[in-house]
Amino acid sequence: MKTRSVRAADVAGKRVLMRVDFNVPLQAGRISDDTRIRAALPTIRFLVEKDARVILVSHLGRPKNGPEDKLRLRPIADRLSRLIDKPVRAAADVIGPDARAAIDAMVNGDIVLLENVRFEPGEEKNDPAFAEQLADLADLYVNDAFGSAHRSHASTDGVAHLLPAYAGFLIDAEVEALGRLLTNPERPFVAILGGAKVSDKIGVIEHLLDRVDAVIVGGGMANTFLLAEGVKIGRSLSEPDRVDQASTAAAKAKELGVDVLLPIDAVVSVSIDGEGAPAAIDAIADDQAIFDIGPLSVELFRQTIAGAKTIFWNGPMGVFEKPAFASGTRAIAEAVAASSAFSVVGGGDSVAALEQMGLVDRISHISTGGGASLEFVEGRQLPGITALLERKDAH
Ligand code: ADP
Ligand code: MG
Repeated sequence: MKTRSVRAADVAGKRVLMRVDFNVPLQAGRISDDTRIRAALPTIRFLVEKDARVILVSHLGRPKNGPEDKLRLRPIADRLSRLIDKPVRAAADVIGPDARAAIDAMVNGDIVLLENVRFEPGEEKNDPAFAEQLADLADLYVNDAFGSAHRSHASTDGVAHLLPAYAGFLIDAEVEALGRLLTNPERPFVAILGGAKVSDKIGVIEHLLDRVDAVIVGGGMANTFLLAEGVKIGRSLSEPDRVDQASTAAAKAKELGVDVLLPIDAVVSVSIDGEGAPAAIDAIADDQAIFDIGPLSVELFRQTIAGAKTIFWNGPMGVFEKPAFASGTRAIAEAVAASSAFSVVGGGDSVAALEQMGLVDRISHISTGGGASLEFVEGRQLPGITALLERKDAH
């Protein structure tokens, strides 16, 4: 799978509509983390240096019925302007008179940020008329919003079919790294899956089974696999309606010769606010719940991780937000970081855990899209990516 890269596009003097993911966390109207803005800088700088007129479009939050003052993008334009050390004009609308006037006034190398695209009812419906209006603003389209690529919206999908469409550097890197997991990964390939729920990630396990050598399952989702094996898990989080799916996946793994590693011990407690105590997996009391993997499981998982040449990790091994239940996630993060394998980590909480531990730099690729990276690894087509694979040089 290869996207058409913006590197190959002739952008000088052109109006380039660039979809970015500036959906940053806000606390009391202030940007509490500008990672997503920083992530778009390389492509924006590239376009500016190539003399394009850069028209940025993003969503922010979930506005219900049209414009909401607290979801306007002006603070983001200000932050971007500071980061890129250039004026960034914030338009007061998306396709309205202010946006048009701002675009008409642009010279080569200028940057305009359109207003929150979800203020427009046509955006999430991927309304063709709205997509046309977006396309009318520009000569070319660049998508760099990987986190929104699994959505079929006007600014991620519709407009990409109306203009010559290219992938920005972020999307390029994501497709390259995630694609490497699915196409001829170097073996042994070890997938580590954790997090809260089986239902979120069973699709990934199912799709990876004929590509991996081992699947390590931890976190809340391991409990459902343990249930399927008849283990008594007390009051642990689990999804009884997914037990059948978990046993089917385990049986298929066995058939394919893929090792499925489940926790052999746990850190348990009667309460999520309590102290943790180690317990063998067959010694969990009825009133206890599993909140982390135990030290023997860490050792077992570590050995498999140490031998890997390719690693995909998504989902913490326990309730890592609580110090009493963070050791398992910490140990696995360290093992992945220490490995010389090609490593990819996705998922908001898993990435947050790595950031807390200062290990981000030791991972080959950190995926910026939670839902989008899972869907990619599940083998599903992402509308925002598919649109960049098709040739659309004329319209
Ligand atoms: P990611 O964002 O990395 O994809 P998820 O959102 O799927 O991860 O899961 C993260 C959440 O799973 C965390 O909030 C964590 O507390 C929770 N979790 C992990 N293990 C357990 C467990 N044993 N019991 C309950 N919750 C758990
Ligand atoms: Mg999460």
